[in-house]
Amino acid sequence: MQLYKTQQLKVYNSLSGKKELFEPINEGHVGMYVCGPTVYSYVHLGNCRTFMSFDMIFRYLKHLGYKVRYVRNITDAGHLEDDSGEGEDKIAKKARLDQLEPMEVVQRYTVDFHQILQKFNFLPPSIEPTATGHMIEQIEIIKDILEKGLAYEVNGSVYFDVQKFNENNYYGKLSGRKLEDMIANTRDLSAQDEKRSPQDFALWKKAEPQHIMRWPSPWGDGFPGWHLECTAMSTKYLGETFDIHGGGMDLKFPHHECEIAQAEAHFGQTPVKYWLHANMLTLNGKKMAKSTGNNLLPNEIFSGENDILSKAFSPTVVRFFMMQAHYTSILDLSNDALLASEKGYNRLMEAMETVLTLEPSNKSDFDISSWKQSCYDAMNDDFNSPILIAQLFEAVKHINLIKEGRETISEKDLQTLQETLNTFVFDILGLEKKQEQSDGSDTLAGVIQLLIELRNEARVNRDFTTSDKIRDQLLELGVQLKDGKEGTSFSIN
Ligand code: AMP
Ligand code: ZN
Repeated sequence: MQLYKTQQLKVYNSLSGKKELFEPINEGHVGMYVCGPTVYSYVHLGNCRTFMSFDMIFRYLKHLGYKVRYVRNITDAGHLEDDSGEGEDKIAKKARLDQLEPMEVVQRYTVDFHQILQKFNFLPPSIEPTATGHMIEQIEIIKDILEKGLAYEVNGSVYFDVQKFNENNYYGKLSGRKLEDMIANTRDLSAQDEKRSPQDFALWKKAEPQHIMRWPSPWGDGFPGWHLECTAMSTKYLGETFDIHGGGMDLKFPHHECEIAQAEAHFGQTPVKYWLHANMLTLNGKKMAKSTGNNLLPNEIFSGENDILSKAFSPTVVRFFMMQAHYTSILDLSNDALLASEKGYNRLMEAMETVLTLEPSNKSDFDISSWKQSCYDAMNDDFNSPILIAQLFEAVKHINLIKEGRETISEKDLQTLQETLNTFVFDILGLEKKQEQSDGSDTLAGVIQLLIELRNEARVNRDFTTSDKIRDQLLELGVQLKDGKEGTSFSIN
């Protein structure tokens, strides 16, 4: 029997603002759509956090026995610099600055995205569609919304008529905003603006002669508005209504609000049953973002080549760090937090080794079945991975007591303990054993760290010949040591 029949999963639905019992539209099947990256620069750790949250959700749904179709798109056109639908296309701009074809930009950063996600041990989605691969579908939706009188054409561009839509629908149902308040709080349109109202958003934009990313349409050459691609791709692969739509909190408005409006206008019904939003990763208390430069790239963390952290951290330790926070909470990245996560991860992995060496006896001091259910209860409570991790450490405590001979465990319970740990640690949290994920960079970082410690000892003993020799010879090998207030860090050239 599938686990979902006995485990009661609850999810926090941003649409209702409540935790709700998860009941998919078609029993046993889950359709999940997550807004993917805009591939105009390297994916930063903040982006990774959102995708990792949904990777963990995907893994748990699969573990419960659902047949999951997980669609995560690649935005390779239509995302303008300003989310309200103004400015240059992000990819076209990058192509202009780097003197590349837009599709070269797309290829470069899509490859980077896939490589990084692989290092983090992500499961691939079932379908990874692109906006440029779905022009026909997007144009068809625009034609229909125009026919229904909920959009208007001006000078080769088509805009969604938010006020007209709001007469019979509720624009703002996801973000909890009211159109009257939005209108009261926005400035008037400038004379050259084509839109009838500032809340209207582009379904199709006319391409100016210099705009290289352009497609033919009934309204002339142009390109689709960013919100439209997600409506087209989600409903194409998951149906007019589907179970889960995810993305970062910052996409709730306007992106997801506009997706709802487009789908309701086109299909006459609301597209998504459960809206799930992942919270932001911050650095120095501020949102990590590509545009502000306040970000760290995953490879800068794995190699230790950055000015923020004292050492390199492996992808699986970073993953463990992310999983220690609930996906709806803000998480701040810091050196201390990563160091603490690394310690915790090592302790967990040691216990995973120890559990394989335990000798069973004829009775158990540890109630395995209620512990196992507590692990499920944590995940059933809106994927509460920090509570799950607390439960895993409860098991670590008992494993160590059994090893020391201060507690006992029966053979059957020992087997359940090993299986349950494997399931939650590797299959659901997606962590990896140390040696499996290492490409040598971890070992190198460990060796350099050891040399830094030996150099520090030499300096304490005033043996400057040895300490200078370590520093200089490392430099010859391309490893530069930097002494700072927080200790010594290194970079590899
Ligand atoms: P983008 O490539 O800008 O379209 O963003 C891709 C995904 O990353 C979206 O779901 C964003 O909500 C998410 N995202 C962007 N910045 C952060 C951050 N600092 N923390 C978590 N998620 C983020
Ligand atoms: Zn989207």
